[in-house]
Amino acid sequence: MDSDSAELSTEDVKRGLDILRDLGVLEIVFSGGNPLLRDDIGEILDYASKYFVTTVYDNGSIALNKIDELRSVDFVAISLDTLDEKKNDYLKGVSGAWRRAMEAIEVLRKEGISVGVSPTISQMNIYEIIDFTKYFTERGIPVWYCLYAYDYQPSRGAFSIGKRNDEYEITDGKMLAEVCDALMEMKKENRYIYITTRTLKAVKHLALTGERIWRCRALRSFLVVDHMGRVSGCHCKEPIVSIFDLPRIWMSPMIKRLQNEYSHCRNCTYLCYIFYSVHAGLTGLLSILFDRWGSIRAYMGK
Ligand code: SF4
Repeated sequence: MDSDSAELSTEDVKRGLDILRDLGVLEIVFSGGNPLLRDDIGEILDYASKYFVTTVYDNGSIALNKIDELRSVDFVAISLDTLDEKKNDYLKGVSGAWRRAMEAIEVLRKEGISVGVSPTISQMNIYEIIDFTKYFTERGIPVWYCLYAYDYQPSRGAFSIGKRNDEYEITDGKMLAEVCDALMEMKKENRYIYITTRTLKAVKHLALTGERIWRCRALRSFLVVDHMGRVSGCHCKEPIVSIFDLPRIWMSPMIKRLQNEYSHCRNCTYLCYIFYSVHAGLTGLLSILFDRWGSIRAYMGK
């Protein structure tokens, strides 16, 4: 069976979503590859949006052709790294990427779809991130960030999303810390900066000291399900079970052992994994709500 024919059917995706809902999952992030390439993505997103907070990532290349399919989701994140068209296309490795992403943001917004922009912070754009953030948030467009990272064992993970590239590696840790400080300050009056203060503090500490103030919560606060329904703690780790067998082993000693093993792992700095780790558990969840509420109150001048 090749990898395409092994892709889950629509009904199996829904069955998998039911299982995640019953296990208490609150949020689903659809990312790629590009999930929008599926013909049935509208049906899947409609179904997922009934039970979860849903986010979809796109680089702007497909969202424009899937507007109706995206109407039910909570947040569409368009990947864009800089306001400089040529530089963005170089970073993305695709001619016309900047133009398509900007158009997607504009059209989705006009269509009333909750769209935001998601730059990957790297050494290539770190000095532009504050201006980039101002540009979009002044236009009422939320900004969420990724941090340049790469897969430490690309061949052994569930799938691969980041390659090592020395040009992108952040060498100016002091600048990254300054970006975190500036975003924390801006958040006091800007409700469109979606990264939380707790996450920014963790990144700042990492940038200045190389130390983590969090433990990875893979397989506790987040997990990854690939297009074939295989579950892993994160995309860098090998799949451990089919989604359909997950309830059977969820409370097993094997899962506990892996949770413990991953909590000591320090092999990646993907920002989404940092976010779900620093906001683990009920207190972490509440701190997200307080973070968002604080921004809205500041915005309303209360
Ligand atoms: S730190 Fe966590 S998310 Fe990153 S590779 Fe290790 S287990 Fe996966």
